[in-house]
Amino acid sequence: MHVRFFGTRGSIATPGPSTLRYGGNTSCVEVRSSAGTLIVVDMGTGAAVLGRELAARGGPLRGHILISHTHWDHIQGIPFFPPLLAPGNEWDIYAPRGFGRTLRDTLAGQMQDTYFPVSLEQLGATIRYHELVEGHLQIGDVEVASHYLNHGALTLGYRLEADGVAVVYACDHEPHSRLLAAGTGEISGEDRRHAEFLAGADLVMHDAQYLASEYPQKIGWGHSTVEYALAVARFAGVKQLALTHHDPRRDDAALDELVASLRAESRRTKGPHIFAAAEGHELELVARSVAAAPKPGFPAQAAPPPALVGRSVLLAAASPSRLAELPDLLRADAVNVLVSSVAEAPAVTAREKPTLVLLEDTGDDDVVEVCRAIRRLPGMEPGLPIVFVTSDERRAHAVDHAFTDTLVEPFSPTYARTRVRAWLMRAACRWTRAPSPDDEERRLAAIRALGLWKTPPEERFDRITRVAAALFDVPIALIALMERDREWFKSCCGMEIREVSRDESFCSHAIFQRRPLVVDDARVDERFADNPYVTGYPGVRFYAGHPLVLENGSCVGTLCILDTKPRPLTDDGLALLRDLAGIAVQEMEATKGGQRVPETPRP
Ligand SMILES: [Zn+2]
Ligand SMILES: [Zn+2]
Repeated sequence: MHVRFFGTRGSIATPGPSTLRYGGNTSCVEVRSSAGTLIVVDMGTGAAVLGRELAARGGPLRGHILISHTHWDHIQGIPFFPPLLAPGNEWDIYAPRGFGRTLRDTLAGQMQDTYFPVSLEQLGATIRYHELVEGHLQIGDVEVASHYLNHGALTLGYRLEADGVAVVYACDHEPHSRLLAAGTGEISGEDRRHAEFLAGADLVMHDAQYLASEYPQKIGWGHSTVEYALAVARFAGVKQLALTHHDPRRDDAALDELVASLRAESRRTKGPHIFAAAEGHELELVARSVAAAPKPGFPAQAAPPPALVGRSVLLAAASPSRLAELPDLLRADAVNVLVSSVAEAPAVTAREKPTLVLLEDTGDDDVVEVCRAIRRLPGMEPGLPIVFVTSDERRAHAVDHAFTDTLVEPFSPTYARTRVRAWLMRAACRWTRAPSPDDEERRLAAIRALGLWKTPPEERFDRITRVAAALFDVPIALIALMERDREWFKSCCGMEIREVSRDESFCSHAIFQRRPLVVDDARVDERFADNPYVTGYPGVRFYAGHPLVLENGSCVGTLCILDTKPRPLTDDGLALLRDLAGIAVQEMEATKGGQRVPETPRP
């Protein structure tokens, strides 16, 4: 895979004698697979240079443009990109789905006649517009994954995989936890999700606009520090880190100095090879011997329900509220806003079934109890996002296991709205990830103590799944163990797949709720309708999973049955499933502390 930088500057183009070497144009990167698929990531002013070069080569052109978000410094090159003007050329433009306005309208905005003499309609090439949410899509031979970043506008990072290599572009993005801006501290919550998105990449191009020392004055501006970029890249096992979206005030000499000091640190901590992206810099990335397999996932181009109208957000407000201006902004997005006190939040949630809950910090631990009370509500979606709103970052850290996400002051009302939009977009995709249970660390320790992870098949487990498949007359029965990120099947009757990601797992919901989970028809279940194992192989319609709870109370996995036809499960059937789960647990307990040395599974 071939990567070339055409714009590395953030915010505003900064030409001049002090930016000659790293460049003054705003964000634009050319990526080309060896099969010739052309993808341009972001269209800042650097795109004008790339466009002239492409046009000079002549011939009809076929290309794809991935836009992270529509801030000026990422789209200003579009009107100056000659390949969009020439008839016969074909372009597909992808960008995050917005609220209210279409992508086409947003891009047409900067080309209205008061700003520019040529309108979007006058561009001669065939242009198709695609609005994306978080998920996966295929562009030629390139597997693309998109992931929401933390920025003042809905922004997607992109992970491109082809030729056995993975490249990630992540601009513009601010640390979720401001404590991480200095590059130290535990990477958890949404920052961990961000790091997982970068995992094992051969090259990460990361927002690195600020230094940790500058960050206190830039909180909430939506950008990373170089220290944070290095910390997440190191955590994610990234091979090469390209710092980019350089601050307009950082001149060549300052970047040289910065890279020299970071390289020393990265070598000391066995981090990635680090460099500052420079205009014109090219990289040829070749596959390592073990190439990461492309992961199936939620389709990024799936259309969420129209405009999210009818979605509701519950603001459980403390007094005075930090979110006083938010209801009006959200109502402008046609989102239904419910307001309650923190104490009333469980009752209102039970009654109104909101898509998202924001719980404001009351200063004491009641708020965590309220969150748990909502999670325990009967019939509640396990994946209901509950966001903790506080002015105390340390408190946010202390309670982040209970919440889906945190929103820490200071933030502007429009920033809060963007975060709410991202959560609603995620929730609009009818496939919900289960949160981790409260006792997750203990649960993981219990699995490791079993010593069964990735061990060869054993008849004592296989006969249980065989009996289950015959008894319930289903094609698939599994004994599943759930690690931190992966689910692996100790016994697998009737299916080719031996492991799935936790996000895509049905069992993660049963494990989270520690109760049997029965899904009569996944296609009409909001939690699973768009799950890749429902929409693709093996085409799951029916699922029933019973949690496997050890004597010490840890829920390590499930015994589950699956069918490709919808069906109900009677109470008698559920009782039989419980009996079989009991036998599976007995078998697991029987070998605990046995001859096998517990090993740490590979992530
Ligand atoms: Zn930017
Ligand atoms: Zn931006």
